[in-house]
Amino acid sequence: MTELDEVARIASTCTKCRLSAGRTQVVFGDGNPDADLMFIGEGPGYHEDKQGLPFVGSAGQLLNRLLEEIGLTRQDVYIANVVKCRPPGNRDPLHDEIESCKPYLMKQIELIDPAVVVTLGNFATRVVLERPVAISKVRGQKSAWEGRTVIPTFHPAAVLHGGGDASPQMKALREDFSTIRETLEAPPAVEKQLGLF
Ligand code: URA
Repeated sequence: MTELDEVARIASTCTKCRLSAGRTQVVFGDGNPDADLMFIGEGPGYHEDKQGLPFVGSAGQLLNRLLEEIGLTRQDVYIANVVKCRPPGNRDPLHDEIESCKPYLMKQIELIDPAVVVTLGNFATRVVLERPVAISKVRGQKSAWEGRTVIPTFHPAAVLHGGGDASPQMKALREDFSTIRETLEAPPAVEKQLGLF
């Protein structure tokens, strides 16, 4: 059993916050544990809670499509959420729920050790950058974080609900996916080459 499997096993019976009461199952994460690229969403929705996998509903279909457009599949990346249990009625996760779940997310990032972390929407971006930023302001802007590159972008669900395929948000999402592709292709940061992180 890998350390990541061990963390998933521990998380699977977690009762650290009230979300445990309403879940069908914990949605820990999915994909390649050695991925260079990791996505962080907000929390499981109805379908994710039923299937035990992140991004399998309509937002997931869009994520799959965007990945395909930059030549990647789900098997190339790792996908996790800020909270691992479905908030009732898909409400926003609360501060204490996010804090309770944060150690799992931080351990996932440490163990997967991706070069690029893409935060989808406000919640994931705020948890990683530890600042109350607005996604509309920071999307597409790369920042260095613990030897990785963080790229915030819109949450696919927000784009689906807020205009769909022809919307400016979709255009921005596609631009940000191009940035992701370019960043993955770029040589590792000088800090990493020098072994500083
Ligand atoms: N939205 C998210 O933020 N995460 C999922 O897993 C599905 C939809």
